[in-house]
Amino acid sequence: MGINLGDMVVLDGGFERLNDNRILSKALDNRYGCAMALCMLEAFKEIDLPFDLIAGATVQEEVGLRGAQTAAVLTQPDIAIVYDCSPANDATGDKDVLGKLGSGVLLRFVDASMLPNRCMIERLKQTAIRHELPYQYYLSLGGTDAGAIHKSNMGVPTLTMCIVARNIHTSSSICDVKDLNAAYNVSKHFLRELNDDAINDMINCNQ
Ligand SMILES: [Zn+2]
Repeated sequence: MGINLGDMVVLDGGFERLNDNRILSKALDNRYGCAMALCMLEAFKEIDLPFDLIAGATVQEEVGLRGAQTAAVLTQPDIAIVYDCSPANDATGDKDVLGKLGSGVLLRFVDASMLPNRCMIERLKQTAIRHELPYQYYLSLGGTDAGAIHKSNMGVPTLTMCIVARNIHTSSSICDVKDLNAAYNVSKHFLRELNDDAINDMINCNQ
């Protein structure tokens, strides 16, 4: 069959709408991120923003945030927003866990790769509150591309805008449409309300 040792393979996996709220698919981590980047380009294609918006996708996040390192050098961002899909912790039914499907965009206040810029995460929270969008606090022992980007160049104020999915890294991950919509809307408002002053606040926040 011409298959050799070391060949690259991908998991076969369908895409299914389980019900009005739930989507089952392989690779929601990180089809979510790619979809969000595309949606932001679509949302702002006719709007003249007071800054250059660069949206894209990286490779090899799972094996060491490798594409994020080169992407940060390529784009030299003043600030960065990273979309990633994180593990939900609610499959046990425990109501007190952090990371529940349908509870909104994540305020990922710490993970193994980054402590987020405090101004940016506070601004994300206030944007969600102002626009009555669901959000939830989250911590992770994992990381995202933000881990590489915030340490790139001379340091880049970085924020993650993540949602959760169950069974990530399998061919049957499950996410909630309410979370997708919350992330989409909060991201759109966040970018729409950004201006030089806000960006300078974020840059000066940690100094
Ligand atoms: Zn992952």
